[in-house]
Amino acid sequence: MKIFVANCGSSSIKFQLFSMANETVLAKGVVERVGSPEANITLETENGKMVDVRIDAPDHKEGLKNVLDKLVNSEIGVLASIDEIEGVGHRVVHGGEDPRASDSIKIDADVIALVEKNTPLAPLHNPANLLGIEAAMAAMPTTTQVAVWDTAFLSTLPEKAYQYAVPREWYDKYGVRRYGFHGTSHRYVTLRAAEVLDKPLDEMNIITCHLGNGGSLTAIQGGKAVDHSMGMTPLEGLVMGTRCGDIDPGIIFYMHSQGFSVEEIDAALNKKAGLLGISAQSNDMRDLLGKAAAGSESAQLAVDMFIYRVVKYIGAYYAILPSVDAVVFTGGIGENSLPVREGVVKMIASLGAELDEDRNINTRGGACGPITANGSKLPVWVIPTNEELMIARDTRRIVAGG
Ligand code: ADP
Repeated sequence: MKIFVANCGSSSIKFQLFSMANETVLAKGVVERVGSPEANITLETENGKMVDVRIDAPDHKEGLKNVLDKLVNSEIGVLASIDEIEGVGHRVVHGGEDPRASDSIKIDADVIALVEKNTPLAPLHNPANLLGIEAAMAAMPTTTQVAVWDTAFLSTLPEKAYQYAVPREWYDKYGVRRYGFHGTSHRYVTLRAAEVLDKPLDEMNIITCHLGNGGSLTAIQGGKAVDHSMGMTPLEGLVMGTRCGDIDPGIIFYMHSQGFSVEEIDAALNKKAGLLGISAQSNDMRDLLGKAAAGSESAQLAVDMFIYRVVKYIGAYYAILPSVDAVVFTGGIGENSLPVREGVVKMIASLGAELDEDRNINTRGGACGPITANGSKLPVWVIPTNEELMIARDTRRIVAGG
């Protein structure tokens, strides 16, 4: 069975084509700058064929049509016909509280209406996801389309974890609560953790740390999410590439009183804060580690604050879980950044984590394994995430009627 996975942004279409027989990626790539005369597709096939060309993509429909044309192009030779694609899995960011969004679901008019209804909760993402759904339905009208919600895995949070201590009416009338994000990644690494730790999923208590440009931690008890660091929006929690994470909400009122508009404060906290804000140099951890090593104090402070915030969340989740089988790192930083992992593990030595420096050095670039010593009371693992494969698996399940 061949499954096409789409992750659409407002001006981009990221895609992967899977052969589910052996879960291999036949082709993957991205259309960028959709809607601009500079639109471009880059595509790479399993056999090493590369495409990198300017295309005519005034909208997502044309962008996706271009992708499909390339996949059936005889020179590229990935598909004989588009009909070989039996399912299309779409990453959809926000499913809100609706019970239909607690698991992946076949897309129909009602599901489209649900994505639209949740647009106020994800004003940038949901409309872009819908453009992708519409484009795929136009190009493959008889193919099963599946929504895989970023929020689904976090729908098991108990009320004490998802409510904010704000007037009750804000929740009842306006839906103010913690929803969380990155759920597909946290779910994937939780399932992988059960495999590599050789433990039944429903007995697994772990803390998963998705550390990429955006970042979040999830406390998992009995295989289910019980707390999570992102909130009603992705702004809460860790220090991120350009997002502030946890701050005193009073700062917003204060800055407003100093003459900043709500829009300016919103833009600053989402796009000019985090690692970029602290360092005033870069939002990219690799850059910052380089600059810190070269003596930049502000880059070092950004790295230190990033590590410190991760450790604070691990400590909090350690305290709320009955026991912890492992801490798991994933995402670009979690999978690759040795100094960040070393910094975190050394600070949680008090919880029983004992770093194995060789393992830390050797476990990167897609490798999976522990970075703590054998016998470490609190094991710490690196488990590379694969959200696209998770989406493809869910799509296969739903195409097969599951
Ligand atoms: P996104 O959230 O955009 O998917 P990624 O998961 O790709 O982001 O993570 C991006 C982050 O991972 C960047 O801060 C980048 O610097 C960091 N990263 C990737 N590779 C390395 C590396 N080898 N060393 C340190 N940081 C790395």
